[in-house]
Amino acid sequence: MFTRRFLGCLLLLTLAMPAQGGDYAAARKQMVARQLASRDIRDQQVLAAMGRVPRHEFVPFKMRGQAYGDHPLPIGQGQTISQPYIVAFMSQAVRVKPGDKVLEIGTGSGYQAAVLAAMGAKVYSVEIIPELAQRAGTLLKRLGYAVHIKVGDGNFGWPQEAPFDAILVTAAARHVPPKLVEQLKPGGRMVIPVGPGAWAEELVLVTKDSQGKVKKRSLMAVRFVPLVGGDQPK
Ligand code: SAH
Repeated sequence: MFTRRFLGCLLLLTLAMPAQGGDYAAARKQMVARQLASRDIRDQQVLAAMGRVPRHEFVPFKMRGQAYGDHPLPIGQGQTISQPYIVAFMSQAVRVKPGDKVLEIGTGSGYQAAVLAAMGAKVYSVEIIPELAQRAGTLLKRLGYAVHIKVGDGNFGWPQEAPFDAILVTAAARHVPPKLVEQLKPGGRMVIPVGPGAWAEELVLVTKDSQGKVKKRSLMAVRFVPLVGGDQPK
């Protein structure tokens, strides 16, 4: 009798769990449709990846209800997880293909890295705040994303793993760090917010052609937390 009731409870619990996950799944589906596909996100790999990665896992527990909203959220240490649209836009702009070797500067919560991994990229991510790097590393591992994380100053890239097919810088620089341009493959793409500070930057696409010639093009106005360290002027 006890066993049957116990098993019954267990069954109820098991049935209830997908329903809870289902709430987030519905919010995520809505996010993809309303914030990404209905704007200018056309890359099916980006849409599919963002439809799968559980963004609520990457925000502070008490903010899970807002995880799929059309805005950034604080993640502690004065840092933020970017707005979903910005994550999608940057991933689309660098044209990530499965198997690409991709460098991210500014691991933060680990969400952008998870999206890139879900797109089939081999992801290397550098974070300057050890606590954030550690938290993101643990979470990504638990969720099954194989992302390589290093604590360090992203201004200098990850020379031991260079060159990269794509580089995404998720903090605002005063200028494009030359080491990152160096670590881009011929044919490679980089997106980086660049600006004079005061939270007014332009998202710049840096491309290196097969001859090694570098071109820069501004894509849109954005606001990011600052890229610190390195050769960035104070
Ligand atoms: N991509 C993150 C959001 C990043 S917020 C996400 O998906 O959640 C910007 C991050 O860049 C912060 O975590 C900040 O600590 C980090 N950062 C700032 N300057 C850095 C530098 N020089 N090298 C590496 N990381 C840096």
